[in-house]
Amino acid sequence: MTQSIPDVAVIGAGIIGTSIAERLQHEGKQVLLIDRTQPGEGCSKGNAGHFATDIILPLANFKTLLTVPKLLMDPTGPLTLRWSYFPKLLPWLTRFTWAAMPHKASHTIEALKVLNRPSIDKFKSLLKRTSLEALMTQKGALTVYQTEAAAKKNKQHAIFVRQHGVNVNELNGDEIREMEPSLNSSIIGGLYYPDTAHSIEPYHLVTGLADCFKQNGGQFAQQEVISIDLSDKSCVQLKTEQGVVKAKEVILACGAWSKKLASGVGHNVPLETERGYHLMLPAPEANLTRPVSSFERSFVMTPMQEGLRLAGTVELAGLDAPEDYARSTALFNHASSLIDKLSDENATKWMGHRPSLPDSLPVIDRSSIDRRMLFAFGHQHLGLTQAAMTADLMADLILCKQQSVDIKPYSIERF
Ligand SMILES: Cc1cc2nc3c(=O)[nH]c(=O)nc-3n(C[C@H](O)[C@H](O)[C@H](O)COP(=O)(O)OP(=O)(O)OC[C@H]3O[C@@H](n4cnc5c(N)ncnc54)[C@H](O)[C@@H]3O)c2cc1C
Repeated sequence: MTQSIPDVAVIGAGIIGTSIAERLQHEGKQVLLIDRTQPGEGCSKGNAGHFATDIILPLANFKTLLTVPKLLMDPTGPLTLRWSYFPKLLPWLTRFTWAAMPHKASHTIEALKVLNRPSIDKFKSLLKRTSLEALMTQKGALTVYQTEAAAKKNKQHAIFVRQHGVNVNELNGDEIREMEPSLNSSIIGGLYYPDTAHSIEPYHLVTGLADCFKQNGGQFAQQEVISIDLSDKSCVQLKTEQGVVKAKEVILACGAWSKKLASGVGHNVPLETERGYHLMLPAPEANLTRPVSSFERSFVMTPMQEGLRLAGTVELAGLDAPEDYARSTALFNHASSLIDKLSDENATKWMGHRPSLPDSLPVIDRSSIDRRMLFAFGHQHLGLTQAAMTADLMADLILCKQQSVDIKPYSIERF
């Protein structure tokens, strides 16, 4: 790239930032992608790879709220909280509780649907353009259950998602095992979402997009942005340890680490991290053909290029606490209750920081304080799913095009 000031600097090369950088480049913009590490080393590295367009019920909902005390009793269960972090978390939890109120949650459901509905088609276009189609496969996904109590709840859930336009089939245990013979007889039924898809290697999706961006002339700089200076009206200045990087416009896409930089440009956002874990089984012996979630155990098993990935759980402990890999290990016990012949030989563990706002919606917006600043972060459990759609919306913002959808629900000023 020449020494000229790039049109746009995108800070953060996770799935959100790389998708945006590639999209803007496609639109003819000169783009600089910046990350303190190589692309894809953040939360986007080890996720469950599920394009989960069926997830339209926000985490912040009244039913979840009622189960929180019970969930917190189980240290290896789906939700845990480090009590030393509780005082810092309290403001976020308060907002989360408010967002879970039925009238608020119904608004969130509509806003999630808007992002999810076109997501897979948008991702397919992105992968076609970058010749990465092989990294996505569309065989749908299953949610299975093992108890009668769960059967009732799943029936209600099927009615709920159908009302919101999600394609779902209710299956009994035998029908499920016909689709996934490795699942054992403890499973008495489940829901099949035929329209969803999964990635066989989400990390390679990010690195593949970044490589394509670079091959097409995009510039990548491995630098940590320490602050953003908007005082110069001719360009935005990004202060890094190596010096100053200039750009005409800047998109902040640092996932769970976006809060400090957003606050530096005048936007205080209640961004927290929901830490999640995975356990990768490179030689599982038994395998699956599509993502299978367990309703009771709240985790997902996704077949990938390099084995079977068990992923999930939420740990509220902030950005800096050390990992608790017992949470990864616990996933093996959960999976073993669904698949009889499973091996954890040479299994590897990982933890990632989901970027989460209390109302389970991302920020996709332009700053009203300085129009040269834009934001794309906070995609919580759905960053992979919503990346291509987010990139399209950001491109419309940068190109000052009429938005295809109302982006007010994702405003940075909604808090
Ligand atoms: C266990 C688990 C399972 C998941 N499963 C799914 C799933 O199946 N489907 C789905 O849709 N989503 C899933 N998610 C969520 C998804 O992974 C995230 O929403 C998504 O990765 C967020 O992407 P991002 O680009 O915003 O953040 P990240 O991938 O974290 O990228 C942010 C980048 O910003 C960089 N950065 C931070 N600060 C700075 C700075 N100051 N200067 C320069 N660079 C900086 C970081 O190095 C990082 O590379 C899962 C998450 C977890 C943890």
